[in-house]
Amino acid sequence: MTPASKPQLWFLTGSQALYGEETLEQVAGQSLRIQQLLTASGALPAEIVGKPVLTEAASIRRVLQEANADAACVGVIAWMHTFSPAKMWITGLDALRKPLLHLHTQLNEALPWSTIDMDFMNLNQAAHGDREFGFIQTRLGVPRKTVAGHVSDPAVVARIDAWARAAIGADHLRNLRLARFGDNMRDVAVTEGDKVEAELRFGVSVNTYGVNDLVELVDAVSTVDELVAAYAADYDVVPDLAAGGARHESLRYAARIEAGLRKFLTDGGFGAFTTNFEDLGGLRQLPGLAVQRLMADGYGFGGEGDWKTSALLAAVKAMGVGKTAGTSFMEDYTYHFGPGKPKILGAHMLEVCPSIAAAKPSCEIHALGIGGREDPVRLVFDAAPGPGVVLGLVDLGDRFRLVANEIDVVTPDEPLPNLPVARAVWEPAPSLSTSAESWITAGGPHHTVLTQAVGTETLRDFANLLGVELLVIDKDTTPHDFADRIRWNQAYHRLAQGF
Ligand code: MN
Repeated sequence: MTPASKPQLWFLTGSQALYGEETLEQVAGQSLRIQQLLTASGALPAEIVGKPVLTEAASIRRVLQEANADAACVGVIAWMHTFSPAKMWITGLDALRKPLLHLHTQLNEALPWSTIDMDFMNLNQAAHGDREFGFIQTRLGVPRKTVAGHVSDPAVVARIDAWARAAIGADHLRNLRLARFGDNMRDVAVTEGDKVEAELRFGVSVNTYGVNDLVELVDAVSTVDELVAAYAADYDVVPDLAAGGARHESLRYAARIEAGLRKFLTDGGFGAFTTNFEDLGGLRQLPGLAVQRLMADGYGFGGEGDWKTSALLAAVKAMGVGKTAGTSFMEDYTYHFGPGKPKILGAHMLEVCPSIAAAKPSCEIHALGIGGREDPVRLVFDAAPGPGVVLGLVDLGDRFRLVANEIDVVTPDEPLPNLPVARAVWEPAPSLSTSAESWITAGGPHHTVLTQAVGTETLRDFANLLGVELLVIDKDTTPHDFADRIRWNQAYHRLAQGF
């Protein structure tokens, strides 16, 4: 799941021929310094690739069309170093299909009060050059993020980083192939949706395969010794499952599922998948451990045929590139209303990603009353405490909606010795009651992505560049304001779609 090459952000510098060659060389040199400062920050998840200074419409259009066509380019950063009359940008911006960030900056941090003259003024005029550029973007309705400030300021780099991650996530989603083993869990509504619209809006291609196509590969696996050794190294395997244990064969079969699934996904070029416990064909166990380990490698997953959450998980995992904190498939399960601060306990039947684990997971086997198969092997752990976001995607019939809630994952109040699945316990902002009321009013799903690697700013940028509504529940949310926002958004998004 590692991309073949580091994603690129193309850095475009606008100017005009009027300034003469000598000045344009200075512009190019200063642009290079800005690019070097961004690269030297070490904080960006993509490589900054500079392009020659742009001074007329044909070359602007050409470079933006090249950005569209270049698979390595996930987004474009534009800075009008000097004054770049913006009519030059109309056809280029109109053609651009990659995410755009408008960086409003200048090379000098301090104004050289005692030496400033007209030459300096003429060279350093992004303050109005970028306003001209802002006008044309707004006039054309070009979606973009505007970031203002000096690039030596970590807060400025952090805002660019947030957008770069969103661009990487959108690019991942655009190229994503998702395999569903079986269809939707019978009668469940929220996991349904329009796959044609999803492919148009997000790019993800969603297709169903007979689960026995997978079973064939699982049965054909020749050896699982390496995987079983990896389990012993990575987890505390309970004695029953360990080599020589009474149920070791169950662990070996779980490894067989993992090897078969990996082969299926690799051969088909899939980056995400779903399973359905109602449709397991010849599988002897519901895939638990295998799903958990594949998620840890960056694959998207959704239970019960939930392809929307699976695709979203793959995208959020891509956005979290290079972060040590994790991201998992999640389901709101049950509540703690008190004593103490109200909390949500999230989990799933088996499939929680060990990237969010607080400590070394324990590899266990327990009965599962659902699915009617042999007892499945799974990893059990508590999620690491710390800030995070839960994110859900629903299909409203005429469009998609993202709902996010800022949360604090906490250490469970007490140990949970009898709970045989991995879990996360969190306090949602601003409170459990407002969070749940708002989420339910928005029609948010019970399946979500829980991430501690990606923040709300990235998710906002992600929604903006996909043109999808995002409703955020955070510390400032009140139920009535939130209900109003849903109404206003409904009107806006219907109008924005056109007729
Ligand atoms: Mn579920």
